[in-house]
Amino acid sequence: MTVNKDIVIQRSIRYTEPDEKGIFAQGAKYWVKVTDDIEEPGRGCVHCSTCVESCTHNIKQPAAGHGVFTMEERFYNDEGHRVSPGSGDSVSLMEKILWINPDECCNCKRCVKMCPQRSIKVYENPDYHDIGVTLTGHEQINNIIARAGGKSTISSAHLGRGQSKMYTDWLIDAAEILSPTRDHMNEYAGQLRGMTLGKRAARFKVDTPIFDVHQSYGSNSHEAVLSRMMACVKLGRPFFTGEGFVHPDMMAAASHCILQFGSGGFGPWVELDKFAGISMKYGQDAKKGKGGRLQDKKNDYEIALLRCVEALRHLSSPNPQHLQYSIEELPMRVESLRALLGDDKLIGADVYGTAWNFAEICVAIAKAGFEYITIKAGDGSTGAAHMVDLQNRGLNIIYLTHMADMALRAEGLREHVSLISEGGVMDSFHAMLTMLAGADFVGMGMRTLHVLGCTLCQRCHTGQCAWGITSRPYGQRIDPATSSDNIARMIKTFHDDMEGMAAGLGMSNHADVIGARRFRYHGSDPLLFETFGRGEHAKQVPHVQMKEREKKIFKSRTVSYAQNKDVFERVLTGIDGDSLKIDVGFDKIESMHLNHIMKEAVDRGVKKFFLDNVMGQRCLGTGIKCDEITVRGLVGNHSFAFLRDVKVNVIPNHSTITTVPANAQVGVANTSNPTEINISGEVSDLFAAYAISGTFRVAKSGGVRNLLLMKAGLPDEWKNLNVDRFKSAGKDDILKELVKKYQSRRAKRVKASWQDFLKQFELKLVNRKAPVAVYGLGHEKGMGDYFMEYAQGGIGIILNVVNRIDPIGYYVCSGMTAGAAYIRGPVTDAQLGKGVRKIEYLTPDDKLFLKGHIERFISEFMDKDIDKAYDDSLKEFAKNFTDNPGQILADFCKIIPISSLSTTSNE
Ligand code: SF4
Ligand code: SF4
Ligand code: SF4
Repeated sequence: MTVNKDIVIQRSIRYTEPDEKGIFAQGAKYWVKVTDDIEEPGRGCVHCSTCVESCTHNIKQPAAGHGVFTMEERFYNDEGHRVSPGSGDSVSLMEKILWINPDECCNCKRCVKMCPQRSIKVYENPDYHDIGVTLTGHEQINNIIARAGGKSTISSAHLGRGQSKMYTDWLIDAAEILSPTRDHMNEYAGQLRGMTLGKRAARFKVDTPIFDVHQSYGSNSHEAVLSRMMACVKLGRPFFTGEGFVHPDMMAAASHCILQFGSGGFGPWVELDKFAGISMKYGQDAKKGKGGRLQDKKNDYEIALLRCVEALRHLSSPNPQHLQYSIEELPMRVESLRALLGDDKLIGADVYGTAWNFAEICVAIAKAGFEYITIKAGDGSTGAAHMVDLQNRGLNIIYLTHMADMALRAEGLREHVSLISEGGVMDSFHAMLTMLAGADFVGMGMRTLHVLGCTLCQRCHTGQCAWGITSRPYGQRIDPATSSDNIARMIKTFHDDMEGMAAGLGMSNHADVIGARRFRYHGSDPLLFETFGRGEHAKQVPHVQMKEREKKIFKSRTVSYAQNKDVFERVLTGIDGDSLKIDVGFDKIESMHLNHIMKEAVDRGVKKFFLDNVMGQRCLGTGIKCDEITVRGLVGNHSFAFLRDVKVNVIPNHSTITTVPANAQVGVANTSNPTEINISGEVSDLFAAYAISGTFRVAKSGGVRNLLLMKAGLPDEWKNLNVDRFKSAGKDDILKELVKKYQSRRAKRVKASWQDFLKQFELKLVNRKAPVAVYGLGHEKGMGDYFMEYAQGGIGIILNVVNRIDPIGYYVCSGMTAGAAYIRGPVTDAQLGKGVRKIEYLTPDDKLFLKGHIERFISEFMDKDIDKAYDDSLKEFAKNFTDNPGQILADFCKIIPISSLSTTSNE
């Protein structure tokens, strides 16, 4: 193509035709319009393509690589005929057409802000909005039409509720008639400083009462997460990670991070002593009854690296199950986490306020020993959720905070636990109101995102956020260093407002504000009116003396040692080089004392433990950094949780009148990375749930939900971390390291397309080894229901050495998205869970893989003297396998997710 010197360039703006006609031609809610120079001289579009690059929204064609705008260039020769580039024809006329597909606009306004000519306007689309009457407005009617058209009913970011009534229905008491000296800027008045999250041994010093909220890596881009994290470091407040764990590049800030453990249990769960604590997520926000799901296309290789799952598969955070989240289970959960983290780390609970017994739940959580409760109230934003659920979020934040505070005070628990309230806190007024209702701190999420660019277009769930907040490929539109400064400045102005209000209320410090109830309600909500609107309500509830909690879980290791020094030291005299044998004497040493003794022993160089005469002690091995633990007896709940690189053997105890079987109780080996765990008996419910890596062998059977949400292995990236130097580093060193790591990432990112950039993370996943669990089954019972439910990798093998005709229960592998189960014996289709299928033949790779595990299983349990019936069956199985392995292997079927078509071995 040759271009004439006098080429004419014609510019035009055109709109694409709507795809649909009639009632289904809804269009988008908003209408984008571009002005030309005739319409607005000097403001007309110059066809610079900035908007084309800016806009990312394209729901109908997400892979198209463009959003609402496309720029077309057409070339014509002297005679007016179209010519194509590269044809060799001469070009006299070039036509530039800015195409606009208005049906895709979501009103994110990025193009509006970026257009150098200010040529773009975004309006409410009259075709969308002019439907319906007041009672049944356009939102509802269009929602019905969308449903009839088979469109998604999922949305995000604050859909479903109107403007918060807090702006109009509440007043904080008018300022005191002041002493002129009460000026928070210059005097000791209203100062909200020197605060701590946590009120007992574990405390996190904070410099602002306004926190960020949990938003996970993956829902937010790398840059959005980093901006928020850096702002937290700058402000001196904890950073809540959400369920997506932390990126290895961000581990320098681990001491500021509180990890969230949700029902998906995502993450490597290593280096836990570097973090500030763990929050247990008791519920799925606006996804009640359904749980959450990260779609396969969003689960890219980098996400898989963080979450330790197979990439490109759907990830489920199921609706919480009673077994994991029952009120009875709460103290055991705290005990286990305390054993894991030590005494100076925070353990929190995130709860949602739609249940009428919310206040009782808060009391139960406080009694269980959690350091803080995060109240998730209605009016808050949320990630992808069905619209009906978004309409059914928690109750009002002031109400919930008030209820929790009153209930805790009445029980004498208020000084044991901090309250964080979030969901609808939009500014300093809301924050102050919430604290006056009883919160120690508030969480503010959405306003933080505004600083990064969020215009509340409600498309977070599509992964197409044009501002790069909830879309990973466009994250580089955010600069974390400057964005974190902006967030910090915004929060500081809110904090300043609040100190002014506190001074105006005649208050001197943080403690004065909490629960002072110096506000009034004059709105029309019946629930709020009943609670706050009937004239004067108690400004201060009567003070109930703090009750001493005698529970062992409230006692630190130091206290435990001081109170039992003689016993501890007597046991520790048994240290022999790097080994220690402890005679637990059945009930002579209780669970936490045993855990503390083992930690003392580790500090004195012990690497191998033999625990004799064990009878159900809990938390065995939890938080113990050693090489080997042998247990003779019965293992209690939550033992071997979060274990890393430890070999465990559990053997029966025949030294007593009644043999104590080598069984394990509930939740054993959960969330662990052991070298191997061998149980010479049976295990109960939730054995090896969330297992990340390692080998698990159980001679007999398991209860329900064994291998729940099993993961896909621990990548080397997590084994090679070296962040000890940041454990007690100052803010500046942490921030410098975060920026350094980000610059290196950005340098790689700008040189590659997003897909090419992700390849480096694919390479980081190839060497990991999936966890494997092998069960022999017993004569007493087969494997319980929900085996490998929601597994996201890993292998479960059921050898059925006793040849049961019913080797397994129902819902086998239900919701599994990756990994496989090999089961020997009959499994009917009716027993299979949702989303999986059964394959009746094994590949040569499968057989080789199984052969190795069968041989190791036999050699592990052959001489353990489990019980006569079992031992005889195992011997017979071993003989048959030696004589005719093909016959044994022919009895296996393989269960895989329906989306998994690979027939190669998974190891
Ligand atoms: S950014 Fe503005 S001037 Fe540039 S092409 Fe788009 S509408 Fe035209
Ligand atoms: S950038 Fe946002 S506001 Fe602009 S056209 Fe695209 S979706 Fe609409
Ligand atoms: S984060 Fe992005 S996609 Fe979500 S509401 Fe804000 S601007 Fe829209």
